[in-house]
Amino acid sequence: MNNAVTKVAVVGSGISGAVCASTLARNGVSVTLFESARGPGGRMSQRRETSEGGQELLFDHGAPYFTVTNTDALALVREWESGGLVNEWKVNFGSFNFVSKQFVDMQQDGMSKKYVGVPGMNSICKALCRQPGVESKFSMGVGRLEWLEDEHLWSVSGLDGESLGKFKGVVASDKNVVSPRFRHVAGKPPPLDLTFVPELTAKLEDIPVNPCFALMLAFAEPLSSIPVKGFSFQNSEVLSWAHCDSTKPGRSATTERWVLHSTCGVCKEKAHRWGSAFPAASIAKGEKCLWNRKKRLAICGDFCVSPNVEGAILSGLAAASKLAEILSCL
Ligand SMILES: Cc1cc2nc3c(=O)[nH]c(=O)nc-3n(C[C@H](O)[C@H](O)[C@H](O)COP(=O)(O)OP(=O)(O)OC[C@H]3O[C@@H](n4cnc5c(N)ncnc54)[C@H](O)[C@@H]3O)c2cc1C
Repeated sequence: MNNAVTKVAVVGSGISGAVCASTLARNGVSVTLFESARGPGGRMSQRRETSEGGQELLFDHGAPYFTVTNTDALALVREWESGGLVNEWKVNFGSFNFVSKQFVDMQQDGMSKKYVGVPGMNSICKALCRQPGVESKFSMGVGRLEWLEDEHLWSVSGLDGESLGKFKGVVASDKNVVSPRFRHVAGKPPPLDLTFVPELTAKLEDIPVNPCFALMLAFAEPLSSIPVKGFSFQNSEVLSWAHCDSTKPGRSATTERWVLHSTCGVCKEKAHRWGSAFPAASIAKGEKCLWNRKKRLAICGDFCVSPNVEGAILSGLAAASKLAEILSCL
């Protein structure tokens, strides 16, 4: 049998795709993961900048940290923690009230355990993408996912139409694979034609999203007047969150680095724009992913469960479970 057709293709190396790929691989399914960006992580990426003096500056410019309550997600996070990929971020958190110009609600460590990837938020996805059984291909965007009815296989092509192989199953871990927004970025229709999965069309057609800007700042001296290392903003139309990235475990503290997040409504230049930072819908609810059993297609990501890392982990696990179950019967 041709080895290529025993595999599953996972599109996207954000936490949902990476969790799905590594879970499938642990269950004996070989996976090829395609990621259009240069490295893994998606919205858990780390940004590398260089200061005017030539110093390397690293920022977690997407998710600053995550929390977990679900037992399945917690089991994975504990495993990552014992492998040194994740650590608890123990600093003081609070809020800044724009009207009173005061820091309020200050608390040691916050309400719940805040986890960060070590040495960057992307370290978890990086490790999962390197797991045995997962072949990861970066800078390789998927341009087309085509179901071949005669062969009962998926044909996957790149953005220039080049063939990337045939696969028994596909996991699409980004709503862009069906979104009309794909056309604005790539100048072509989205990779997955919804006529292949008409029953999923209504859920996938128009998933609302909220954008966010991330501003990254580095200081030679500590900002000692700020009494907390992570805080939300109250009564601000512009800012929603700020944190001191260099206080996270495993980061270099040679400069003090801060990341500020905007509110959804604001627009500023010279900042990193996350166009789809937070999905404003949860389209799969209890199922946690969308699934077409006949065509062995799973669609996962935070937009299926909840707009955070935990939601994405749960969705990736659900997609892996659907595929692993059906592939073990073939
Ligand atoms: C500014 C910001 C702050 C946040 N704060 C928090 C927080 O405090 N706590 C928390 O839990 N969560 C937070 N989040 C949300 C969290 O980051 C996301 O919920 C989670 O990372 C989503 O993971 P995902 O795998 O679903 O999607 P993504 O991380 O978006 O991964 C999708 C991947 O698919 C790739 N891809 C897309 N199309 C293609 C294609 N055609 N071919 C190949 N690859 C493709 C993309 O490049 C991307 O890497 C924040 C997000 C942002 C942006």
